[in-house]
Amino acid sequence: MSYASITIPARHGKAVRLRANQCVQVINTHGTQVVDCWAWNAYDLNEYMCMEASRVYNQHLNPVVGDSFVTSDRHPILTLVEDTSPGVHDTFMAACDRRRYELLGCTHYHRNCADNMFEGMLELGVNPPRRNLASFNIFMNIRVQPDNIHLDTLPTVTRPGDFITLRAEMDCFVAFSACPQDIVSIQGEGDNTPKDAELRILDEPFAHIPVRDPWVPAHLQSR
Ligand SMILES: [Zn+2]
Repeated sequence: MSYASITIPARHGKAVRLRANQCVQVINTHGTQVVDCWAWNAYDLNEYMCMEASRVYNQHLNPVVGDSFVTSDRHPILTLVEDTSPGVHDTFMAACDRRRYELLGCTHYHRNCADNMFEGMLELGVNPPRRNLASFNIFMNIRVQPDNIHLDTLPTVTRPGDFITLRAEMDCFVAFSACPQDIVSIQGEGDNTPKDAELRILDEPFAHIPVRDPWVPAHLQSR
């Protein structure tokens, strides 16, 4: 298997350009790092990976292997084709940004995922038209409580070396941030220090996993 490897330095952002059917593997090197993820149609940056539309499409709070993320125009853009982690990820929480850290009491600039999204993309010479707060928060542990109302923000449950693999369903840019959050305990249990993560680009289409069809209600499925 041939692959290119890219380190996402702790507290920083990296982005990649994928052709349709290429994959990117996101490796939790130390097992403790939350990695925020965004994606865009390579030919139209106004079409972006959309968490709210993806929840409708899959009818899942968090993706499982075989689920496809869709764009703001509801076209599949990334499919989860592998997950060696316990499968705990988040699609609810906004990416952290400068204002979030001010609200947490920071009086000086704190690195943040929103700026890291731009850092990664600008390194490729691409300038996204807006700050996308709704990210796919890989390895982030947000638990819906039994009352179906409250959310609990918890440390990651990932092991060192756990990874997920995302397949591109269109030519796209994908940005990642090794989340700099070190105030709210979302990184590993007992050690909230942001750490490096790693990306690998794979030229392997995972052809045994088809792109997912949209969910439709049962009474329409027989048509
Ligand atoms: Zn963050």
